[in-house]
Amino acid sequence: MSTAYKKVTSHGSISIPVAMRRELGIEPKDPMVVEERQGEIRIRPYTLRCNFCGAVDGVQEFCGKGICRSCAQKVFQKLGGE
Ligand SMILES: [Zn+2]
Repeated sequence: MSTAYKKVTSHGSISIPVAMRRELGIEPKDPMVVEERQGEIRIRPYTLRCNFCGAVDGVQEFCGKGICRSCAQKVFQKLGGE
């Protein structure tokens, strides 16, 4: 978890730091979910994207990041799995 301090623009927008976008695989124009709960605003990707190849189909969350089946298999093979 990381924290950034941002100012709200006159249009009500804030920018998401590039490091956080890269970390979560967020691309320009990706739909996001904005939730308010008990005085906090939470923003998360509406569609989970693979952090490795950018795919959106069949992506699952693993350790807080998106990974598709194809990339998961490549990682598994690279690490000596079968
Ligand atoms: Zn992938």
